[in-house]
Amino acid sequence: MGQSQHKKSAITWTDGREVPLIGQGTWNMGEKASLRQEEVRALQLGFELGMTLVDTAEMYAEGGAEEIVGEAIRGRRDDVYLVSKAYPHHADRQGLAQACEASLTRMGTEHVDMYLLHWRGNIPLEETIQGMEKLREQGKIRNWGVSNLDKSDMEELWSLSNGKACAVNQVLYHAASRGIEYDLLPWSRTHGVPVMAYCPIAQGGRLRRGLLEHPIMVDIAASHGVTPSQIALAWVIRDGDVWAIPKAVQESHVRENAAAASIQLTPEQLQQIDEAFPPPTRKQPLDMV
Ligand code: NDP
Repeated sequence: MGQSQHKKSAITWTDGREVPLIGQGTWNMGEKASLRQEEVRALQLGFELGMTLVDTAEMYAEGGAEEIVGEAIRGRRDDVYLVSKAYPHHADRQGLAQACEASLTRMGTEHVDMYLLHWRGNIPLEETIQGMEKLREQGKIRNWGVSNLDKSDMEELWSLSNGKACAVNQVLYHAASRGIEYDLLPWSRTHGVPVMAYCPIAQGGRLRRGLLEHPIMVDIAASHGVTPSQIALAWVIRDGDVWAIPKAVQESHVRENAAAASIQLTPEQLQQIDEAFPPPTRKQPLDMV
């Protein structure tokens, strides 16, 4: 993996719009009414600190997270790059139209900037493409993409009519889960499909402890005067062409995540991380949560 001399903080979209490399996730938001205001405030603080990309889905709290997003973007819709996702069982023409409409209503907006197929289900990709293209023609979505699709799925998508209109693939990626570097990430780069990394700080479980508590991450963080989570984020966006969408409700976390956009890891530090978490040398199944 190469690395740039000048730290990039955004990906420039084909329409010239700049979308910050570190955005905000919303999974688990909207589950509890008592946390609602805190979650809205967290997203708004994130917007103010430059994390104007927000990722949500009809699945999260069964629409509850989209309602939080709707409240957070009120009065600043144009400043926000809005990503949402449809369930696989809604991914035919009619299902997508209905799901998208319901999402737009919950978020109080006329369009989604990027609408994703959440994961691949039983509905043929052709039908999903047709449904997405229809929504695009109607102006309900600006672009569409996919999530949790591996290289073979992407190749299949590319072989279908209008499949090359797919504008992003959102997959799990962090330093302790690097399987996509073997084939999916190179394929995505060759075909100009940016990757959006979910779970960029390895939420939950074994991998999180293994990543954030690893002595190398702790040492590198100390040398920058930041936290291991911030190093994990800086690592994900190190090449300037992968988005990271950490989810944070605690104010300190929101501030840390926004500040991570300007951390420049040195070649030596990237090498140390490679030694601690070696890149893949053979095909690995796509990690998912
Ligand atoms: P993350 O890796 O973003 O981890 C979220 C957890 O990390 C929360 O508990 C949060 O705590 C904590 N956290 C956030 N910032 C910090 C920090 N600076 N230091 C320490 N802890 C921190 O996991 P997610 O699973 O939420 O993934 C991110 C987003 O990606 C999701 O919210 C969702 O939008 C998307 N996603 C997409 C999937 C897909 O299938 N397409 C699957 C999974 C996620 P707190 O909230 O208390 O601040």
